[in-house]
Amino acid sequence: MGIIVILMKLLFIFLALALLWPLSSASAQANPPYFKTRVGDLEVIALSDATSRMGFDLLIGLDSPGAAAAAKASGLNPDDKSFPGFVNVFLVKIKDNLVLIDTGNGPQSGLSAALEAAGVKREDIKYVFLTHFHGDHIGGLIDQLGQAAFKNAKVYASKLEDEYWLSAEAPFERRKRAEKALAPYKEAGKYIKFNEGETIESFVSFTPLYGHTPGHGGYLFESGGESLLVWGDIVHVKYVQFANPAVSLTYDIDPIKAAQTRNSIMEKLSDQKNVVVAGTHLPFPGLGRVVKTNKAFDFEFIN
Ligand SMILES: [Zn+2]
Repeated sequence: MGIIVILMKLLFIFLALALLWPLSSASAQANPPYFKTRVGDLEVIALSDATSRMGFDLLIGLDSPGAAAAAKASGLNPDDKSFPGFVNVFLVKIKDNLVLIDTGNGPQSGLSAALEAAGVKREDIKYVFLTHFHGDHIGGLIDQLGQAAFKNAKVYASKLEDEYWLSAEAPFERRKRAEKALAPYKEAGKYIKFNEGETIESFVSFTPLYGHTPGHGGYLFESGGESLLVWGDIVHVKYVQFANPAVSLTYDIDPIKAAQTRNSIMEKLSDQKNVVVAGTHLPFPGLGRVVKTNKAFDFEFIN
């Protein structure tokens, strides 16, 4: 009797592990999981937190045949009915400061392995800047025990974003998640909210890019005549949204405003040749320049 129970338990554990395995597999990350480059005097490291698929049904303003045509034009298989998806996190070394922009999905995801592969210690990160409060951006603020994953970092976020997610307007579960992720930093007096136009730190400025979420924004670093704009979730599907910036995603809280913001920031960046963009959901490593085409825009990766 006892042996049967033990065998049953072992079988259950085996099945549970077999089911969980694809989620924890290292193949769900870019390989190698980091990419280093320079922008002016800044060292920029792209870190792969995860890869996924983005279904055609996530697109607003482009039907399935349109999405299939866009996939085909990019050399992808339209029968997949989805595009490759990415979650990239960016680390900027500016003078002696290590700055992380967003934190990926959380402790189960790939950021830890990517940081380790890039030779970066969590405790050396002094600043974490948040583009917005979706789970794939704030999840990595805490470890499995709910404690600060970046013990020596100050965390910055726009006041508008903070107010929305911690208000009754936000979906309850997401509000709880945001509260939990920020709690250890608040308790330690290391959580700082800023208004649009206020100085954050001397080496960075906030670019409001509202629409995806109410307080969504990018972080601009300038160095040696060049700039880096970490633009968060302006683009989720590279294969569609440069050629057609009017297409939003179901993830955009205000899809119309998100499309307007996308179009205007692309217009601006395509006129400024010296700005490198870093995008969370662009194909890894997600670094490049926005360029103008006859019809709209395109993205040229840097290497
Ligand atoms: Zn995102």
